[in-house]
Amino acid sequence: MARVALVTGGTRGIGEAISKALKAAGYTVAATYGGNDEAAKKFTDETGIATYKWSVADYAASKDGLAKVEADLGPIDVLVANAGITRDAPFHKMTPEQWQEVIDTNLTGVFNTVHPVWPGMRERKFGRVIVISSINGQKGQFGQVNYAATKAGDLGIVKSLAQEGARFGITANAICPGYIATEMVMAVPEKVREAIISQIPTGRLGEPEEIARCVVFLASDDATFVNGSTISANGAQFFV
Ligand code: NDP
Repeated sequence: MARVALVTGGTRGIGEAISKALKAAGYTVAATYGGNDEAAKKFTDETGIATYKWSVADYAASKDGLAKVEADLGPIDVLVANAGITRDAPFHKMTPEQWQEVIDTNLTGVFNTVHPVWPGMRERKFGRVIVISSINGQKGQFGQVNYAATKAGDLGIVKSLAQEGARFGITANAICPGYIATEMVMAVPEKVREAIISQIPTGRLGEPEEIARCVVFLASDDATFVNGSTISANGAQFFV
């Protein structure tokens, strides 16, 4: 039987490419989203992939939502924690609300997504947890104290989960994309985007599919011994 994969924020951007790539690789896929019904409908019409709506920032909603996915499709074997937001501001102007919203979605959201399915993965002696972090969690970024904190936190999460899950056949890994051509990046002013591209030795933004292919590898049986790792997919952008 096909393995079941769940992608949070799987209806747009990088998550959309991940959902499609996992489906093409033979998984039964569920894609979640937070509020954009129109994008979710367009995605389902186009792909036939089931979508589910809840906020990853809400533990009870995540637990209920994940239980519904498992009732519909079967136990979740591959969990891709991809949903994320930015609320950028230089630190002296960053509000407690901007801090908290990003922490709740990007960091606590990973806990809320993995925690309810972890016992099942342990029981079944198989699981793949893949967290989409960011180059800005590795290097920090002006105006992103909140975001960088969450994305660095993701790396601590997977390294710890890897140690706890290894003897249960569970792997946990992170991918740190560099700048990828999604709405999140295309929303920044063109001048800023040009400055960003000038810092990428490959000379272009990454494509969502280039991150999706890393996910397919980490989910596969070829990656059984890859555990607690970080794949940096950033076009050779230096960060140390
Ligand atoms: P997008 O803004 O294009 O898509 C974000 C997705 O996350 C949407 O499906 C959105 O749902 C969902 N989402 C946001 N908040 C919540 C929430 N509270 N609950 C559930 N779902 C939510 O983002 P990207 O594709 O650009 O980014 C995907 C991931 O990759 C993020 O974690 C981001 O930090 C990371 N990343 C992105 C990079 C880039 O260059 N784009 C670079 C490095 C990392 P809805 O459609 O309902 O809004």
